[in-house]
Amino acid sequence: MEFSSKLLENAVYEMSQLPGVGKRTALRLVLHLLKQPQGQTERLAKALENLRKEIKFCSNCHNISDVALCEICANPKRDQGLVCVVEDIRDVMAIENTSQYNGLYHVLGGKISPMEGIGPQDLSIQSLVEKVKSGEVRELIFAMSSTMEGDTTNFYIYKQIQDQELTTSTIARGIAVGDELEFADEITLGRSIVQRIPFETSLKANG
Ligand SMILES: [Zn+2]
Repeated sequence: MEFSSKLLENAVYEMSQLPGVGKRTALRLVLHLLKQPQGQTERLAKALENLRKEIKFCSNCHNISDVALCEICANPKRDQGLVCVVEDIRDVMAIENTSQYNGLYHVLGGKISPMEGIGPQDLSIQSLVEKVKSGEVRELIFAMSSTMEGDTTNFYIYKQIQDQELTTSTIARGIAVGDELEFADEITLGRSIVQRIPFETSLKANG
């Protein structure tokens, strides 16, 4: 792609670093911004800058938050002894949308994936194990996507805590095997969390 302007080229290059945005789309977006009032681009740049500077991760559940303890963890009406283990904030949002769950979350920040070089130490697993060992968790719900990486992650955590006094369950699989949680419809996902099953039963079902 030949550019008549270095400024344009730089903006297109940065935009094209985003996932799913090729050079042509990046050019279209940048030209669109140029046609809009200058304030719009400034607000976009400022929003991204503020996001990076001020975003926090909840000290308890590791969810993305504006404050040290997220709204869900800080809510006294939520069941503090019930903890749902999820991959990232998109899963929290998906489960919250069902209005079927009143416990807390633990956001791992990904899943174990040897292919992508992601090991247990790259995820917030240690803090979860410590939380369980401190005795404050009554039931742990595994709600990772039903993929090989999700199952591996669930099993790794389960191994660390299986000698502890608590109930472990996993969401019922109205969710198709191989589906990402965030793409499940609200009713299916809501039913899956209400009708969750003991984690050990799911291990037997998988052979
Ligand atoms: Zn939190």
